[in-house]
Amino acid sequence: MKEIKLTPKRKEALQQLGLNSSEDILNYFPYRYQKLEYLDYEDWQIDSKVVFEGILVGKPTVSRFGRNRSLITLPIETEFNVFKVAVFNQIWFRNREPGTRFTVVGKYEGNNRVLASSVTTTPMKEMLGITPVYSLKDLIKPKNYAETVRKVLEANQGEIEDFIPEVLKDKYGLYSRYDALREVHFPTHEKRLAKALNTLKYEQFLRFQLYMLYRKGLAHVRDESLRKDIDRDKITEFIKGLPFELTADQQQAIKEILDDMSSDYQMFRLLQGDVGCGKTVVAMCAMYGAHLAGWQSCLMAPTEILARQHYQNIVRIFSDYDIGIDVLYSSQSARERKEILERIASGKTAMIIGTHALFQNDVTFNRLGLIITDEQQRFGVKQRQALQKKGDKADLLLMSATPIPRTLASSLYGDMDVTTISQSPNRGKTIHTKVIKKNSFLPVIKEIEKLLAEGNQMYVICPAIENGEETVTRNVTDIHRNLSAYFKGRYHVGLLHGQMDDEEKSAVQDAFARGEIDILVATTVVEVGVDVKNANIMVIYDANRFGLSQLHQLRGRVGRGEKEGYCYLLTDSQEKEALERLEVIEKNTDGFKISYYDLKLRGPGDILGTRQSGLPVFAIGNIVDDAEILNICRSDASEILNNIDDPQYERIRNFLQDSSQEEVFLD
Ligand code: ADP
Ligand code: MG
Repeated sequence: MKEIKLTPKRKEALQQLGLNSSEDILNYFPYRYQKLEYLDYEDWQIDSKVVFEGILVGKPTVSRFGRNRSLITLPIETEFNVFKVAVFNQIWFRNREPGTRFTVVGKYEGNNRVLASSVTTTPMKEMLGITPVYSLKDLIKPKNYAETVRKVLEANQGEIEDFIPEVLKDKYGLYSRYDALREVHFPTHEKRLAKALNTLKYEQFLRFQLYMLYRKGLAHVRDESLRKDIDRDKITEFIKGLPFELTADQQQAIKEILDDMSSDYQMFRLLQGDVGCGKTVVAMCAMYGAHLAGWQSCLMAPTEILARQHYQNIVRIFSDYDIGIDVLYSSQSARERKEILERIASGKTAMIIGTHALFQNDVTFNRLGLIITDEQQRFGVKQRQALQKKGDKADLLLMSATPIPRTLASSLYGDMDVTTISQSPNRGKTIHTKVIKKNSFLPVIKEIEKLLAEGNQMYVICPAIENGEETVTRNVTDIHRNLSAYFKGRYHVGLLHGQMDDEEKSAVQDAFARGEIDILVATTVVEVGVDVKNANIMVIYDANRFGLSQLHQLRGRVGRGEKEGYCYLLTDSQEKEALERLEVIEKNTDGFKISYYDLKLRGPGDILGTRQSGLPVFAIGNIVDDAEILNICRSDASEILNNIDDPQYERIRNFLQDSSQEEVFLD
């Protein structure tokens, strides 16, 4: 693509927006469109959205109220009337001389009064129609930005190739890439704009689905040596011995996993289900299955303390069986580690639980046949593919506690097979969730004091570790100090955050689990924590800063014992959208519903408030509203891949073989 000449100043502004090339600029899409239509004066009614041009014919009047708030009223004359145009907080209009020509956009309030949302000197002619609105962060004026985009488009006329195969373009009536880009940046008509947006969304999702399915195909190689002969009767017997009955979803999950393991193909499966739905026992059945077939298995947890909890559980469940089980993490002594490594290498150990320490170079497995990762939502696509490489054809089972609706899951996690557990056992119990519209304990201190006095433990979550220069968010250091002083002599307050070393972290969490610490002030490191049955209260500061799925995940840490849980979401935010989002958490306990909102509102890349979600970032559209296109692209991609040698797919072949594409979709 051709680059254009830019002034150094313009170039810098663009770079600050992350736009370093013509390609970047053309792919930086408006986040919304403003539609401005001219309405004849005769048709004006109260609350009509109106736009008109006129001349300032008198002195503006100013009224002030509150702190820093003002309302300016400007008399503006048009050919029909003199209107009283009111505009908030734009005090500089005070000094405008009568005679200036303005364009007013606003709402008609009757009685010749207009409440303006904008008053500018831009001619009305230029403002009518559909105007793209970009996120420009005040770095560059919209008018100047549009000029840059226009130049890029002009320079590249005839240079931009189509990715979508001709037949599909015809089938769906899509534009060429160039025409679509031009219409999206310089819309001429609503219908054409819709078609252009569809073209670009289709192309984006088609690339994504092709990439995912292609990867899936690469991994799907038949290899009889991967087949595991699993005695299913023994599995059934094991399940009978469990202290509870499995749900139908759990049973189905176990069946799908064992079927995969018994096949000639390497398993690459995601097991997703809400917090508490019982994924661990499914994992145990898979590990037992591997053992029965004569293979080792390992279960990888994101933190040491979680690894140890899994280890204890597994040892307990298999206490009547003669199976070698070990746990491996980085803070073990050198001697201990050496002994464990020997047992793993010799094959004495059949089931190994651990952290990422499991995949250090000195770990040699005897015959590793199954790798399970817990709390997969913490890993990105890159990590899961690294794992696939390291595992050397071992079956892979990834478990995620941020479930997304089935229809979307199969598309978004397209390189894997997906099993979904949607029922939860024993989830009659609720977690009482309340949004507190103040970033402080005070409104709920009485309730909390009462719950603490009843012997409950409490988590207090803050977004930050320390007081940053610019951040206005609460941080664990300050809150820990304040709460320690407040509860002095009554409750023990502990501190936990990601910058502490592993040993310190484990020590604090252990103390909390044993009840030696009553109140744990923490960052989101507790998101994947151990079960502390007595921890029934959670307070989250600056709750609006977290993703919905993350809040749901955090909240899942309380109410895990017999008693009900209480969760308080504190926020200072006045933003309507922020409060609406928190209301979703207040009113819903279903992780699927919550992730659905999250996907819709923030996009998959943001679902967990980080870009580490393992889901791609899409430049245009959103996967909830555009799920239909996403799914159409899936079947089209599959068809293309079935005939990939067809000459018409040459560009797609090149795309798939170009490994730099990984950067586009991964993290
Ligand atoms: P998660 O899916 O969040 O990892 P766990 O596997 O930790 O959930 O299960 C949560 C709790 O539910 C555990 O205490 C587990 O023993 C229990 N559990 C799992 N399956 C069932 C079931 N079918 N009936 C009753 N309790 C169950
Ligand atoms: Mg779990």
